[in-house]
Amino acid sequence: MADAATPDKIKAQQPSIPETEPEHKRQRLPLGPLKTVHVFWLAGMSCDGCSIAVTGATNPGIEGLLLGVVPAMPKVLLHHPVLAVESGEAFVKWFKDGADGKLGDPYVLVFEGSVADERIAQRTGGYFSAMGVEMMDGEDGEETHPVPTATWLHRLAPGAAATIAIGTCATWGGVPAAEGNPTGSMSVMDSLGKDYRSAFGLPVINIPGCAPVGDNFTETVFAILLFLQGLGPLPAFDELGRPAWLFNETVHQGCTRAGFYEEGTFAHAYGDPECLVEIGCWGPIVQCNIVKRGAQNHMGGCMEAGGVCIGCTMPGFPDKFSPFYKPPPGGILSTTVSRGVGAVMRRLRRLSMREANRETRWDVLKDVPSGWGHVDSRTLIDGVNHFFYEKWQQMGSRRPGRRSGEEEQLWGVDRPGVKSEYLDESVGREATPGGAAARAAELEEKAPGASHDRR
Ligand code: SF4
Repeated sequence: MADAATPDKIKAQQPSIPETEPEHKRQRLPLGPLKTVHVFWLAGMSCDGCSIAVTGATNPGIEGLLLGVVPAMPKVLLHHPVLAVESGEAFVKWFKDGADGKLGDPYVLVFEGSVADERIAQRTGGYFSAMGVEMMDGEDGEETHPVPTATWLHRLAPGAAATIAIGTCATWGGVPAAEGNPTGSMSVMDSLGKDYRSAFGLPVINIPGCAPVGDNFTETVFAILLFLQGLGPLPAFDELGRPAWLFNETVHQGCTRAGFYEEGTFAHAYGDPECLVEIGCWGPIVQCNIVKRGAQNHMGGCMEAGGVCIGCTMPGFPDKFSPFYKPPPGGILSTTVSRGVGAVMRRLRRLSMREANRETRWDVLKDVPSGWGHVDSRTLIDGVNHFFYEKWQQMGSRRPGRRSGEEEQLWGVDRPGVKSEYLDESVGREATPGGAAARAAELEEKAPGASHDRR
């Protein structure tokens, strides 16, 4: 961990955990308009999936930010360990300047992956995740040692306009912090502590997901930049620092399969189109917008692709959602209820659907002129059902169409009033002037057999 007075050196055996961190001086930053904002991206115990998700964001896309072509947005200078053109000392220098307050522009800190307890690795002279090297005091005098990204986090976070934890590892510890946790991994929030505030006074902003929806990240960054520009209010975050407008609903509430759940029909195997709760979906209790928004470019998303929700955006993930192949026990109650209610509702809805699938004209003519197949015309039971249903539907309002006696003149011509006046049942398609049947008869007359050849 770096000494505040000598930031180029880290001391051996000094852990990068909150209680041993030096006191950082708070920097205050002016509100915009800003021309340039740096984004420092750090990766801890990460698989780089969050980086990939963000590069796939389209609404808004990261390219617009980096090129500085988005109206009212400052130009963003991204310092990313994988995407940067610079390398080595030239790359790390920006981070040092940021930590030393020499940048001259505000910066946003983004952390991907969980924050390992580097003390564990240091016991054997190693490290879990690091970026750049610095001189440190070792057993044999001064030697170079990789700088843990946890250390960079603690150096840069106090001066950042905002610190954003991206992905479930950074927001809640995720897979590296699952039961067993050999690396002592924790979230950014756990590592920086409850009292952490950015230079703008913000606690850690959390955008969970494994991997997160890239658009959730870019949209949040846009909202924060608008705030920094003085052009918008501070976006709303919930009590866990999640963008409230993105995470206040459950997956289930936006799921394209929710109608199946409500009607009590459930998938038995992967690939079935119905609700996946009985093969392990935790969507009803998981706060996530992936189905509504789509994983990438408004497409995909777990249930869209046929996968169950395993709760990857939640702080309890993965331990509280495993084993993933078993259905959630709480689902048994709700699926039993929806099976019972759904069975009735489903049948009633199919009746209404049959009625809605017929034109008014077809009801009068008692014929559905479809060349695709036989369609049942209205039965007596359908007619009785519809009579009462329509009465209820139109109660207190005016029924479409005109009634007897409401005929009137329109542009000097009598306008028909009641259905029998404008719908002549004797006029079938066959007799419609210019209609398909009439045309076929015409052709038949001119050249017998021609109309059949054309079919
Ligand atoms: Fe809800 Fe999951 Fe079923 Fe979708 S698949 S409706 S999220 S339980």
